[in-house]
Amino acid sequence: APYPYKMEGKVISGFGRGSKELGIPTANLPVDSALTPWISSIPSGVYFGYASLNLPAGHPQRPASSSSPGPASFSVYPMVMSIGYNPFYKNTVRSAEVHVLHGFTADFYDAHMRLLILGFIREEKDYKSLEALIDDINFDCEVAKSSLARQAWKAESVGDGAEWLL
Ligand code: ADP
Ligand code: MG
Repeated sequence: APYPYKMEGKVISGFGRGSKELGIPTANLPVDSALTPWISSIPSGVYFGYASLNLPAGHPQRPASSSSPGPASFSVYPMVMSIGYNPFYKNTVRSAEVHVLHGFTADFYDAHMRLLILGFIREEKDYKSLEALIDDINFDCEVAKSSLARQAWKAESVGDGAEWLL
Protein backbone atom coordinates (compact mmCIF):
# COMPACT_ATOMS: atom_id res chain seq x y z
CA ALA A 1 0.00 0.00 0.00
CA PRO A 2 1.23 3.52 -0.76
CA TYR A 3 1.84 4.56 2.84
CA PRO A 4 2.19 7.09 4.26
CA TYR A 5 -1.11 8.78 3.48
CA LYS A 6 -1.38 12.48 4.20
CA MET A 7 -4.39 14.60 4.93
CA GLU A 8 -5.06 17.94 6.57
CA GLY A 9 -7.84 20.29 7.55
CA LYS A 10 -9.46 22.23 10.35
CA VAL A 11 -10.93 20.36 13.30
CA ILE A 12 -14.74 20.51 13.08
CA SER A 13 -17.56 19.42 15.37
CA GLY A 14 -18.37 15.76 15.12
CA PHE A 15 -21.58 13.83 15.51
CA GLY A 16 -21.95 14.67 19.19
CA ARG A 17 -21.94 11.00 20.08
CA GLY A 18 -20.18 11.76 23.30
CA SER A 19 -16.78 10.29 22.54
CA LYS A 20 -15.33 12.63 25.14
CA GLU A 21 -17.63 11.24 27.82
CA LEU A 22 -16.22 7.80 27.02
CA GLY A 23 -12.72 9.14 27.62
CA ILE A 24 -11.91 8.89 23.91
CA PRO A 25 -12.48 12.30 22.30
CA THR A 26 -12.09 12.25 18.52
CA ALA A 27 -11.15 15.34 16.56
CA ASN A 28 -13.15 15.26 13.33
CA LEU A 29 -11.67 16.46 10.06
CA PRO A 30 -13.67 17.31 6.95
CA VAL A 31 -12.98 14.85 4.17
CA ASP A 32 -12.36 16.44 0.79
CA SER A 33 -12.18 13.63 -1.73
CA ALA A 34 -10.61 15.95 -4.30
CA LEU A 35 -7.66 16.65 -1.99
CA THR A 36 -7.49 13.09 -0.66
CA PRO A 37 -8.45 10.86 -3.60
CA TRP A 38 -6.96 7.79 -1.91
CA ILE A 39 -9.52 7.96 0.87
CA SER A 40 -12.31 6.39 -1.20
CA SER A 41 -10.24 3.30 -1.94
CA ILE A 42 -8.94 2.27 1.46
CA PRO A 43 -10.82 -0.02 3.83
CA SER A 44 -12.95 1.39 6.62
CA GLY A 45 -11.23 0.82 9.89
CA VAL A 46 -8.67 1.96 12.41
CA TYR A 47 -5.32 3.47 11.38
CA PHE A 48 -2.34 4.89 13.26
CA GLY A 49 0.25 7.56 12.66
CA TYR A 50 1.05 11.11 13.71
CA ALA A 51 -1.04 14.22 14.08
CA SER A 52 0.44 17.67 13.91
CA LEU A 53 -1.56 20.48 15.48
CA ASN A 54 -1.29 24.21 15.28
CA LEU A 55 -3.00 24.91 18.59
CA PRO A 56 -5.01 28.15 18.50
CA ALA A 57 -3.73 31.32 20.15
CA GLY A 58 -4.84 31.21 23.76
CA HIS A 59 -4.74 27.42 24.02
CA PRO A 60 -2.98 26.63 27.34
CA GLN A 61 -0.75 24.04 25.66
CA ARG A 62 0.32 26.15 22.69
CA PRO A 63 4.14 26.25 22.81
CA ALA A 64 5.33 29.32 24.75
CA SER A 65 7.88 30.18 22.05
CA SER A 66 5.11 30.95 19.59
CA SER A 67 3.78 34.43 20.22
CA SER A 68 0.07 34.60 19.68
CA PRO A 69 -1.37 35.14 17.16
CA GLY A 70 2.06 34.76 15.55
CA PRO A 71 3.14 32.29 12.89
CA ALA A 72 1.95 28.70 12.85
CA SER A 73 3.62 26.46 15.41
CA PHE A 74 2.97 22.77 15.01
CA SER A 75 3.29 20.16 17.74
CA VAL A 76 3.48 16.49 16.75
CA TYR A 77 1.66 13.73 18.64
CA PRO A 78 1.00 10.04 18.05
CA MET A 79 -2.57 9.29 17.00
CA VAL A 80 -5.05 6.53 16.28
CA MET A 81 -7.94 7.26 13.92
CA SER A 82 -10.99 5.78 12.34
CA ILE A 83 -11.93 6.17 8.71
CA GLY A 84 -15.50 5.18 8.03
CA TYR A 85 -18.73 6.31 6.44
CA ASN A 86 -20.68 9.28 7.70
CA PRO A 87 -24.21 8.21 8.70
CA PHE A 88 -25.46 11.78 8.12
CA TYR A 89 -24.78 11.42 4.41
CA LYS A 90 -26.45 8.03 3.98
CA ASN A 91 -23.09 6.30 4.31
CA THR A 92 -21.72 7.58 1.02
CA VAL A 93 -19.30 10.18 2.38
CA ARG A 94 -16.17 9.27 4.28
CA SER A 95 -15.56 10.50 7.80
CA ALA A 96 -12.22 10.84 9.56
CA GLU A 97 -11.92 11.01 13.36
CA VAL A 98 -8.63 11.26 15.20
CA HIS A 99 -7.92 10.38 18.82
CA VAL A 100 -4.68 12.15 19.69
CA LEU A 101 -2.58 10.16 22.17
CA HIS A 102 -1.94 13.12 24.44
CA GLY A 103 -3.73 14.66 27.39
CA PHE A 104 -5.20 18.04 26.45
CA THR A 105 -6.43 20.50 29.05
CA ALA A 106 -8.60 22.38 26.54
CA ASP A 107 -10.40 21.69 23.27
CA PHE A 108 -8.86 22.70 19.97
CA TYR A 109 -11.77 23.07 17.56
CA ASP A 110 -10.74 25.06 14.47
CA ALA A 111 -7.07 24.13 14.90
CA HIS A 112 -5.28 23.17 11.70
CA MET A 113 -4.38 19.48 11.83
CA ARG A 114 -2.10 17.50 9.56
CA LEU A 115 -2.07 13.71 9.55
CA LEU A 116 0.60 11.27 8.52
CA ILE A 117 -1.09 7.87 8.33
CA LEU A 118 1.49 5.10 8.61
CA GLY A 119 -0.44 1.89 8.98
CA PHE A 120 -3.66 -0.06 9.37
CA ILE A 121 -4.71 -1.65 12.65
CA ARG A 122 -8.05 -3.35 11.95
CA GLU A 123 -11.31 -3.21 10.06
CA GLU A 124 -14.44 -1.52 11.30
CA LYS A 125 -16.58 -3.60 13.64
CA ASP A 126 -20.10 -3.59 15.04
CA TYR A 127 -20.39 -3.68 18.79
CA LYS A 128 -23.01 -5.23 21.03
CA SER A 129 -21.90 -3.28 24.08
CA LEU A 130 -20.23 -0.01 24.86
CA GLU A 131 -17.74 -1.83 27.08
CA ALA A 132 -16.59 -4.00 24.17
CA LEU A 133 -16.15 -0.92 21.99
CA ILE A 134 -14.13 0.92 24.64
CA ASP A 135 -11.97 -2.16 25.28
CA ASP A 136 -11.13 -2.41 21.59
CA ILE A 137 -10.32 1.28 21.28
CA ASN A 138 -8.03 1.13 24.28
CA PHE A 139 -6.31 -1.86 22.70
CA ASP A 140 -6.01 0.07 19.40
CA CYS A 141 -4.25 2.86 21.31
CA GLU A 142 -1.72 0.35 22.69
CA VAL A 143 -1.15 -1.14 19.22
CA ALA A 144 -0.59 2.38 17.83
CA LYS A 145 1.87 3.30 20.58
CA SER A 146 3.93 0.13 20.26
CA SER A 147 3.93 0.34 16.45
CA LEU A 148 5.10 3.95 16.50
CA ALA A 149 7.88 3.03 18.92
CA ARG A 150 9.43 0.73 16.29
CA GLN A 151 12.42 2.29 14.59
CA ALA A 152 10.96 2.63 11.11
CA TRP A 153 7.95 4.52 12.43
CA LYS A 154 9.65 6.87 14.84
CA ALA A 155 8.77 10.46 14.03
CA GLU A 156 12.35 11.25 12.97
CA SER A 157 12.62 8.32 10.57
CA VAL A 158 9.49 8.71 8.45
CA GLY A 159 11.31 10.44 5.59
CA ASP A 160 9.51 13.36 3.97
CA GLY A 161 6.67 12.73 6.40
CA ALA A 162 8.65 14.58 9.05
CA GLU A 163 8.63 17.72 6.87
CA TRP A 164 4.92 17.34 6.28
CA LEU A 165 4.29 17.39 10.02
CA LEU A 166 6.29 20.57 10.68
P1 ADP B 1 -17.19 15.93 18.58
O1 ADP B 1 -18.42 15.10 18.40
O2 ADP B 1 -17.42 17.42 18.41
O3 ADP B 1 -16.04 15.45 17.73
P2 ADP B 1 -15.83 14.66 20.84
O4 ADP B 1 -16.52 14.21 22.10
O5 ADP B 1 -15.40 13.59 19.88
O6 ADP B 1 -16.77 15.74 20.13
O7 ADP B 1 -14.58 15.56 21.29
C1 ADP B 1 -13.69 15.99 20.28
C2 ADP B 1 -12.96 17.27 20.64
O8 ADP B 1 -12.26 17.12 21.88
C3 ADP B 1 -11.90 17.59 19.61
O9 ADP B 1 -12.42 18.35 18.51
C4 ADP B 1 -10.87 18.39 20.42
O10 ADP B 1 -11.17 19.76 20.37
C5 ADP B 1 -11.07 17.87 21.85
N1 ADP B 1 -10.00 16.94 22.32
C6 ADP B 1 -9.43 17.03 23.56
N2 ADP B 1 -8.51 16.06 23.72
C7 ADP B 1 -8.47 15.34 22.57
C8 ADP B 1 -7.69 14.22 22.14
N3 ADP B 1 -6.77 13.64 22.93
N4 ADP B 1 -7.91 13.75 20.88
C9 ADP B 1 -8.83 14.32 20.09
N5 ADP B 1 -9.60 15.38 20.43
C10 ADP B 1 -9.43 15.91 21.67
MG1 MG C 1 -15.44 13.43 17.58
